[in-house]
Amino acid sequence: AKISGKNALRFFDPRMQLAVQERLRLEEEIRLGLKNGEFILNFQPQLEQTEGIIGAEALVRWQHPLRGLLTPAAFIAQAEHAGLIHTLDQQVLAQACAQLARWAETPEFAHLSLSVNLSAHLLYQDNFVEGVLELLERSGADPARLKLELTETLLLDNMPEAIARMTRLKQHGIRFAIDDFGTGYSSMSYLQQLPLDQLKIDQTFIRRLPDDSSSLTIVRAICALATGLGLEVIAEGVESEPQRGMLLANGCHRYQGYLFGRPLSADAFEELVRSTEAD
Ligand code: C2E
Ligand code: CA
Ligand code: CA
Ligand code: CA
Repeated sequence: AKISGKNALRFFDPRMQLAVQERLRLEEEIRLGLKNGEFILNFQPQLEQTEGIIGAEALVRWQHPLRGLLTPAAFIAQAEHAGLIHTLDQQVLAQACAQLARWAETPEFAHLSLSVNLSAHLLYQDNFVEGVLELLERSGADPARLKLELTETLLLDNMPEAIARMTRLKQHGIRFAIDDFGTGYSSMSYLQQLPLDQLKIDQTFIRRLPDDSSSLTIVRAICALATGLGLEVIAEGVESEPQRGMLLANGCHRYQGYLFGRPLSADAFEELVRSTEAD
């Protein structure tokens, strides 16, 4: 039994059998959900200290016919596993572009930009650049209002290719942020090589503010790094006024987090923009 190893044991474990069936069912549901347009976007406001709401991060949600509104934790890993994540991300990008195009037609929303998450390896797919440009063109959205959030590990996977693709998109005005900055292990030299616009400080550091001095040191260093390199810096997971104050004192004046708003439906987000501008 020892030699036949984990696989054999796993195969005969009835609980595992069930898990496999459940996974296959979820996979089938995701496939169907993609076909039926059940994946929608929520919008979490991003603010600038003096300008107010400057845009949003688009966060995917699954409007499941039976289980209600599901967050990515319930389906992203399985979508990846099933090879469906590219289709999902494509739908997300298409919806993001459509939203930007709609906002551009309304004066009170025309200044908004939208950040979109790209999962691992979509960047490296054949025709990725052409695909994004086509979505933008078809929707009529302004490429300069679209920001793509990438992770360090993804970028370091194939730096030369990442640089080439990002550079081509950048020529059209698309912007790039490093998501969860500070959590991926890497040398910093890549920051000089990639055509970046923004560092997004990971929420694990923000969560420990204002009391934890080592988190403050890291946040301070990231802000100085961004400023020195001419990059924007934004903090995510900002939940309290003391956290915001501490960030501002250290040169970070862009924020995203529950303090300013949860991820909202498009309607609710637009309502929030309207109400804050009326102030
Ligand atoms: P992320 O890109 O780091 O997104 C930020 C997550 O933090 C979101 O969770 C957001 O709801 C949550 N958050 C925002 N502000 C606060 C706060 O103040 N406090 C706390 N505790 N949490 C906050 P969400 O929506 O569940 O998304 C989880 C992850 O799923 C995202 O992490 C991102 O990696 C992934 N994801 C979301 N949308 C997409 C998508 O369209 N495509 C892909 N590939 N991944 C996505
Ligand atoms: Ca993100
Ligand atoms: Ca993040
Ligand atoms: Ca994250």
